[in-house]
Order: sequence, then C-alpha cells, then structure tokens
Amino acid sequence: MSLPPRLVVVSGPSGVGKGTLVNKVIASHPEVVHSVSCTTRAPRPGEIDGADYRFVDDETFRGLVSSGALLEWARVHGAHYGTPEAQVDEALAAGHPIILEIDVQGGIAIREKRPDALLIFIEPPTMEELARRLMGRGTETEAEVARRLMNAVGEMEMAPLYDVRIVNDDADRAATELACEMAKA
Ligand code: 5GP
Repeated sequence: MSLPPRLVVVSGPSGVGKGTLVNKVIASHPEVVHSVSCTTRAPRPGEIDGADYRFVDDETFRGLVSSGALLEWARVHGAHYGTPEAQVDEALAAGHPIILEIDVQGGIAIREKRPDALLIFIEPPTMEELARRLMGRGTETEAEVARRLMNAVGEMEMAPLYDVRIVNDDADRAATELACEMAKA
C-alpha cells in the first residue's frame, strides 16, 4: 500500500533514533521522499553532501534565507539548518509523501505555514536511555553530547504541540506506527 502525498514533520531529541525510523519507513515505502536540509554544520565522517545534507557556508545560508528559498530554518546546537521549499512542493506535486526530519522550532514553523502538515514527535523510552544512545553513537564529542542532552529537555517540553507522539522503544515497532500514522487520511 503506498502512502498518500503529505508533508510530514518528524521531530524529537538528538539521539532518539528519528533517522533510523525514517529510513525504515522509506525501506518499506520507497515512494516516501526524505527532505535534504541545508546546514552550516560540518559533515560527520561518512556523510554525503546532497544526500544527508547540503553542506553550505554561512554566507550561502544567509543567501538562501534572504531569497526566500527556505520553508523554515532554525539555529540548532550552534549551527543553522533549513528546509528548501522547492523540494517539498515538487515531491507533493509528484504525488509523494515527504518527511522533514527537523527540530521543534522548525516543526512549529511548519505548523504555521502548512497547517495540513502532520507533526510527529519521537520520544525516548526514558531520558537515561536517550543519554545512553547518544553516548553510544560516538559521533559527537563529550561536550557536544552534553549540549544535545540539555537541549533534549527543552525539546521534550514541545511534544504536546505535535499531532502524534511515538515512543521509540523498539525501532521496528515504532517505524510501523510511524507508517500507520502517515497512512491515515
Ligand atoms: P544533526 O546535526 O544531528 O544532523 O541535526 C541536529 C538537529 O537539527 C536535529 O534535531 C535535526 O532534526 C535538526 N534539523 C535538521 N535539518 C533541519 C532543518 O532543515 N530545519 C530545522 N529546523 N531543523 C533541522
């Protein structure tokens, strides 16, 4: 069963496993488009420009903001991130659902600009489990992990503003729940 064209926002604290869930949904529903954001943060080892993110410098990012090319943008964990609007409209016009994996500021901005968007918040089973996952990931420095955990507390407070909350207790189960929500009209 293919999923209907819809703008879907997936948010949740860093390390909660948003990317894993989104990848699982795309693996079982290849019609789903994963929006590629622009960011001023440096690529992590293994990340591919144009696939994971479009990595840009500050000046290029400012240009994208001032030309109105971004549907939303925010400063997260000390870098800028934004969603190119054209990519969203192209996917929807072609009949594809598109997932924006963005932070809570971005989610709230999308709610204002695109009221028909579906906003999904991914929660960790516990904050201890989140800390364990973030440290186990090994992609951030200790200071960066601490910063992301601090931010997680504020992000969790925004969860009630989302349409649906999914606890990522088990990745397969949570991904199935995510796909079910996307299938609803
Ligand atoms: P990371 O650096 O771990 O890839 O992402 C850090 C945070 O930025 C995550 O919460 C991620 O969802 C968020 N993010 C990624 N792209 C965008 C975007 O285009 N807009 C906003 N507002 N947040 C984004």
